[in-house]
Amino acid sequence: MRLAFSLLASILLSVSAFADTLISNVTAITMKGDEVIEGAYVYIRGDRIEYIGNGRYDPKDASNLEIIDGTGKFLIPGLAEMHGHLPQGAANSQQAKDTLFLYLAGGVTTVRGMLGNPVQFEMRQMIKEGVLDGPTLYLAAPSLNGSTVSSPEQGAQLVERYKNEGWDLLKIHPGLTLKEYDSIAKKAHEVGIGFGGHVPADVGLIHALNKGQASIDHMDGFIQLAGGSDERLSDEQIRHVVEQYNNAFKSWIVPTQPLFNILIGGGDVIRLNRRFENKYVSPETRGNWHNRIKAINRRANSYIKDNRNRMLAELYKSGANIVLGSDAPQLYSVPGFSIWREIEALIKAGVTPEDMLVIGTRNAGDYFKGKDRFGTIQAGMRADLLLLDANPLENSKNLFKQAGVMAAGRWYSRADIDAKLADIAARNK
Ligand SMILES: [Zn+2]
Repeated sequence: MRLAFSLLASILLSVSAFADTLISNVTAITMKGDEVIEGAYVYIRGDRIEYIGNGRYDPKDASNLEIIDGTGKFLIPGLAEMHGHLPQGAANSQQAKDTLFLYLAGGVTTVRGMLGNPVQFEMRQMIKEGVLDGPTLYLAAPSLNGSTVSSPEQGAQLVERYKNEGWDLLKIHPGLTLKEYDSIAKKAHEVGIGFGGHVPADVGLIHALNKGQASIDHMDGFIQLAGGSDERLSDEQIRHVVEQYNNAFKSWIVPTQPLFNILIGGGDVIRLNRRFENKYVSPETRGNWHNRIKAINRRANSYIKDNRNRMLAELYKSGANIVLGSDAPQLYSVPGFSIWREIEALIKAGVTPEDMLVIGTRNAGDYFKGKDRFGTIQAGMRADLLLLDANPLENSKNLFKQAGVMAAGRWYSRADIDAKLADIAARNK
């Protein structure tokens, strides 16, 4: 018995033990204020940053050390996908493995999963133990909506149950009545669990903000309050909504702008089909996307995207709390790479390179500050890092020039990532 136990322990140990890493002579954009350290040395032990500074670092015991030459490169915290969807099937299925790896391949080291399935607890644990390659996961519970919630009392019971089961937050979907929503919000505050997602039509944006909804995803609540999608919104209508948001509880906004732009506003079929990342999803998925976008195009009006883009620009200008989120893997949103599309949408909305880094990294760490420490490059932080070939403070698109990704201390070089991406593309030919 003892032998069997120690054998098991040593197998587990060999899975979870990995080399310490030293990234040398890199330009570190630490996101601690606007600090930039040139010639920085960053030492990573286990899943933590142990040291960062611009002197050489000599750790006490470093027999198992991997050194990464950062000369000429830029180091930032990893990106966060704050509205992602995680596989619902078996934790170690090929599809789950591919989806989780795609997030890493896009530079995403944290995912807030927005539709809970108990299998995701297992997935999260397997990533932690190094059995699966993937980002750190925070999990929203199964959806609270018009069909899963039948009364204010039953809604409150679900909140208690999900809190006890260990979910990180509650997912709000359309269809809840005002009374159900209020009961859920009250219980959520009582037991200490955040709630975020959609704004149910019966509730409305301002009420949701005043009830302390932690995140407003997709911006539909903003558009609805401004006057809807049937006609062009005036600048005055948009400004008025932004003002109300700023005077209420400044909840986190997760725009998921490219997805909703095409989901409601349609898109150029040829350009969408040409996106390089499409090759990482199955031919069936690609076919479904093609058919769906053609159907959407038949009923979309030309004002929808313009309204949404102007709303996002105005929110940004006003100093709104924004995080990155893309709602992968929905319509033309390939996990990991759909965050690049979101970054492009934010560039269009006028977001500066400095603010893009704040939105993409540190803000997610702020959002999850009760759970762990990440989102900046400082000693003690979770070692989620992105090594870039070009300076992201000069151009946000340099975020796409990735030389390697570190997720909770595990290093994936460009060559590792390219080899795995080629495998995923081959499986989806
Ligand atoms: Zn979603």
